[in-house]
Amino acid sequence: MANTVQHWCNNDVFAGGSQATAPVTNPATGEVTGQVALAGVEDARTVIEAAAAAFPAWRDTSLAKRTSVLFNFRELLNARKHELAAIITAEHGKVLSDALGEVSRGQEVVEFACGIPHLLKGGFTENASTNVDVYSIRQALGVVGIISPFNFPAMVPMWFFPVAIATGNTVVLKPSEKDPSASLWLARLWKEAGLPDGVFNVLQGDKTAVDELLTHPKVKAVSFVGSTPIAQYVYATGTAAGKRVQALGGAKNHAVILPDADLDLAADAMVNAGFGSAGERCMAISACVAVGPIADDLVAKIGERARALRTGDGTKDSDMGPLVTKAHRDKVASYIDAGEADGAKVVVDGRQVSADGGENGFWLGPTLLDNVTPEMSVYTDEIFGPVLSVVRVETYDEALELINSNPYGNGTAIFTNDGGAARRFQNEVEVGMVGINVPIPVPMAYYSFGGWKNSLFGDSHAHGTEGVHFFTRGKAITQRWLDPSHGGINLGFPQNN
Ligand code: NAD
Repeated sequence: MANTVQHWCNNDVFAGGSQATAPVTNPATGEVTGQVALAGVEDARTVIEAAAAAFPAWRDTSLAKRTSVLFNFRELLNARKHELAAIITAEHGKVLSDALGEVSRGQEVVEFACGIPHLLKGGFTENASTNVDVYSIRQALGVVGIISPFNFPAMVPMWFFPVAIATGNTVVLKPSEKDPSASLWLARLWKEAGLPDGVFNVLQGDKTAVDELLTHPKVKAVSFVGSTPIAQYVYATGTAAGKRVQALGGAKNHAVILPDADLDLAADAMVNAGFGSAGERCMAISACVAVGPIADDLVAKIGERARALRTGDGTKDSDMGPLVTKAHRDKVASYIDAGEADGAKVVVDGRQVSADGGENGFWLGPTLLDNVTPEMSVYTDEIFGPVLSVVRVETYDEALELINSNPYGNGTAIFTNDGGAARRFQNEVEVGMVGINVPIPVPMAYYSFGGWKNSLFGDSHAHGTEGVHFFTRGKAITQRWLDPSHGGINLGFPQNN
């Protein structure tokens, strides 16, 4: 079918046998711009089998060769990242600068993976027992599945596939059906970089494709990122089928503003972290916890900045783009309605936005709610839109209790000029990624990304050392080479004497 985003298998587009498709829209105009193929079970099996067939040769490809392909990929990506950013903006809606930022953060993981020879070095103990050496190596798993959400169609897959490929695995990526084109662009780039057929594949689709990845015996591990209910399902189903699974889920991130904080810095940060990418970030701040007497001033400063943001088409000079679909836009707006009905004060109302974009775009402007309390649905639920709720508390301990009793634990931040308070927060807060005067503390590629509690199911975070461990398994080898002067064979169990 013309204008259909297809699968990618063995370094070529693959139409598959399923006739099912889903529409792809441009959120800034509301127009359907194409279709995406939805894999049937047979399509999924074909792609997984291709990845399985490519595995032995890729696993045995030297580290020098693998690294050179990664370097090529990095160079091509760096030179052409604007192309990818434009594709992201056209299907996701985020502004071009944000899309470029997403690509750059993904590129950092590619750069990290270029160091794979060093990262894969094992340990060696000479003469552990007389004439016996012990050493450890880490080996690739086989075919790995990557299932990604709509909000970072390039960066989230790049949290995983550079490391998976560098460590010698072959990959089947199942992107979000809402913005599928970035995955194909990346696949073509791998081909250009010299990656052999079948090492990186893309399976477009929905639950059918996901379920096949979770149960097919040749898929050895699955990295998932998405909402918490699906992350739980993916973890339970994949592990029941004997696979290694890391499933990153949803979030409800709090920022604590202590009374001694620089309020201008904090207000800038709240606007950036609350409304950047229209709040469709798993590290977005959605609850701003104002401690003590600063709340009125802080709300005024955030409000002033939020009102100045320009909402519009991401290809224009806008600060914030549309939401990803009309259904999502309406759901987020309904949370604002509910918050208002529950008694929150609407300080800035995004429902009234006049956007610089298509009349049928999925627009919702920045929204600031004050006097939000923990029972309101606008506080309890992950909203995933440009809605920032201010919760007022009297003490640091109350703020900490609020965060630690929340079921999610992805990211958090504290704003203060008191190093001791920040240090205490870093120690006491039950969240996987913590910012100190930094609103979106996404770790660098050489650290690992991941939350706690309902924000991650599984033991391994993404990229960094944990990523390398996730995509490899350890082997310990004990060897004995008899000295030429041994004078006879000894078949006994090695004795440490
Ligand atoms: P989603 O859970 O709807 O979809 C994620 C993936 O799962 C997609 O590929 C989708 O096709 C697939 N999927 C959807 N329903 C499924 C089902 N019933 N069975 C099997 N697979 C299914 O998430 P989304 O709306 O695309 O993304 C937004 C969510 O992702 C938010 O909750 C956000 O917090 C989360 N997220 C988390 C992180 C993190 O690092 N923790 C990062 C980015 C996004």
